[in-house]
Amino acid sequence: MKLVKNVYWYPEKAIGDCNTYLIDNNPCVLIDPGNPRYLSQRLSEMENDGFDIREIDLIANTHSHPDHCGANRALQTLSGAKIAMHREELEHLSFSMEFAGYFGMEMPKFDVDIFLEDKLGGKMKFVVIHTPGHTPGSVSFYCEELKLLMCGDLLFEGGVGRTDFPGGDLEKLKDSIRRVSELDIHYLLPGHGGVVKGAEKTKRNFEFIKEYFL
Ligand SMILES: [Zn+2]
Ligand SMILES: [Zn+2]
Repeated sequence: MKLVKNVYWYPEKAIGDCNTYLIDNNPCVLIDPGNPRYLSQRLSEMENDGFDIREIDLIANTHSHPDHCGANRALQTLSGAKIAMHREELEHLSFSMEFAGYFGMEMPKFDVDIFLEDKLGGKMKFVVIHTPGHTPGSVSFYCEELKLLMCGDLLFEGGVGRTDFPGGDLEKLKDSIRRVSELDIHYLLPGHGGVVKGAEKTKRNFEFIKEYFL
């Protein structure tokens, strides 16, 4: 579903899946394709919004966990899109693969084609912010024009990302949350749960998180 301007939201379907976002920005960027089990459902939702899967140019992952990257390879095969994540997450990827097997989650092997550095390409500027803590190479995407932050598993509506998995670091997570809380945000788009809309609600969410989790 359309969230704002050229940003679309495909909500997580179940535990073991995640929120998928699509930025129709020439290039067309898909953030976190989620669990492969729900890929066909997700693709038909996109088709209903008028997208052809072959229009997707880039699959950008907020981090390498299987609930976010499980469908990377299938989506790449169908769309021909390149796969991107942060350089520091690449070292963590083999762990995420093991982790997927341990929890019985599907994550077919894929190659990372591009490292996420300072920004995503396109007419509307989306800055890449390295926000470690949940994993070493977790990233968030911020669009100043839309005042919109996609934060992966850094924080959620009323909560923060887990740091008890290998590669997690609570102090880094806290530091990353403090940094993004300085941004002007009217749309907070996390990797799980609901989207937080409105400057006031977003501010209150950060206040709640600072009070209970930082
Ligand atoms: Zn995660
Ligand atoms: Zn997740």
